[in-house]
Amino acid sequence: MNQIAFTKSHQALFTFYRVFAFVIFLLLAFACASQKAPSLKPKSDAQLHYELTPLLEQHQTRVQVDLYFHGNERGQSELLLPSTWGNGKGLAKKIESVQVLEKNITLTHLNVQNRIRVTYPPKTPRVAIRYIYKLPQPPQDFRNSSELRPFGNHEFIHLIGETFLIHPDWHPHTKRPVLVKWLLPAEWQGFTSLSASQARLSSIDLKTLRQSVFVAGALFIKHLPNESAVLVAPQNVGLSAPIINGIQKVLHNANQFYTAQNASPLLISLFPIGTRCCDYKGLSLHNALTLMLPKNLMPNTNLWHLLSHELLHRWNGQVLKRKVNDEQLIWFNEGVTDFLARKINYESGLITLKDYVTGLNRALWRWQHTKPNQTRLSHNDHMMLRYAKGELLSLQIDEIITSDTKNKHSWLQTLKDMTQMPAQEVSKEQLHELILKNLKTKLSREALAKIQELLEHKNTQPPQNIGECIRLFKDQGILVYKYKNGICG
Ligand SMILES: [Zn+2]
Repeated sequence: MNQIAFTKSHQALFTFYRVFAFVIFLLLAFACASQKAPSLKPKSDAQLHYELTPLLEQHQTRVQVDLYFHGNERGQSELLLPSTWGNGKGLAKKIESVQVLEKNITLTHLNVQNRIRVTYPPKTPRVAIRYIYKLPQPPQDFRNSSELRPFGNHEFIHLIGETFLIHPDWHPHTKRPVLVKWLLPAEWQGFTSLSASQARLSSIDLKTLRQSVFVAGALFIKHLPNESAVLVAPQNVGLSAPIINGIQKVLHNANQFYTAQNASPLLISLFPIGTRCCDYKGLSLHNALTLMLPKNLMPNTNLWHLLSHELLHRWNGQVLKRKVNDEQLIWFNEGVTDFLARKINYESGLITLKDYVTGLNRALWRWQHTKPNQTRLSHNDHMMLRYAKGELLSLQIDEIITSDTKNKHSWLQTLKDMTQMPAQEVSKEQLHELILKNLKTKLSREALAKIQELLEHKNTQPPQNIGECIRLFKDQGILVYKYKNGICG
């Protein structure tokens, strides 16, 4: 009893002290707040603030970037400059000047590559840096041109965060508030794949910012609200109605394949810039697809295939990722994506049976012609071989599944089921396990063993039959797919 009384009076005393301490705290807080605010306010409440201004000169397009950030209590930050992208190196060299915009701030170029030290009075509310990024012209020939992916001219600018953004110390997975703002000539419009043209984000991680796309120019803009996408292209291209309709159909097909929809609208930028007939190259990034296409753009199978392929990378590559760039899984990322793109476009009626067979024969041709002398292949050929391998493996796997289940199940359906899985990074072994787990209850033991063997790449051969009417024939010593009995469909 006594003990309880003692505790109660003790508690009352403690509460009094707490209230007293709180009042003191309020008084102190008020005193601090009423002091004159420093003249140098942050430009916004975002921890990182970028302002992008195009500098359009006669022969060279540049982007001026003003970067503002809050200084830390050490009074020192390290700025990290862009380093590599795709096959490209030395992106930092494209940055022509880095200078400070406020007094009391100094820059020191470090011996460590691509790093600059910024020194400022501790807790400076606004550290302001300006740098100028020199943009290459859009490529005329896309072979080995991935380093040219940031590009610009007098009509448009296309940037990827990773290739031009400088940022202070930032752990890739830590989220920060960021503001990215285009300052543009009157006739220009700006877009970012961060879901708004002037993107103010309450929290974003470094990885997402680096994978974002920034487009500006005198652009043709088409909103496709049903498919939750925005198309942008240089205005002088004039996208025809058949092209826009086809794009809409491809988007619809991909949305049908995915069960989980991404909430942010997709920014699809089309740049018809290549001079050769068959220049088609694409890139799938954060809420964005970029397609680089031949100049005289036509609504055709190549365009639908490229767009489908890039859309499918939003799952196969971005949600289901290969661990540490595991080379052994490129066949899955690229070749399976090719299989899906072609199959889905064919089954939806967007491409004809003839187009479908032509595409498969191209993969078959590539496989037969490059396989025997692999040691002398260029990097590009090596890559393309994996596309062909993945598509042929897919056809083989599909043949096993459909014949074992009497068409009740398919490889396409298996992959569709796999899109339901949470985002993850997989090794070769983990991927095989996921595939086999998905098929376990549906296939016979023999069929499962055959698929396991295929996944180990022990037997990459073109399958004899693909669907009801396409068969493998030998034509002048070369294996080709033809319609059974010359007619089909
Ligand atoms: Zn790809």
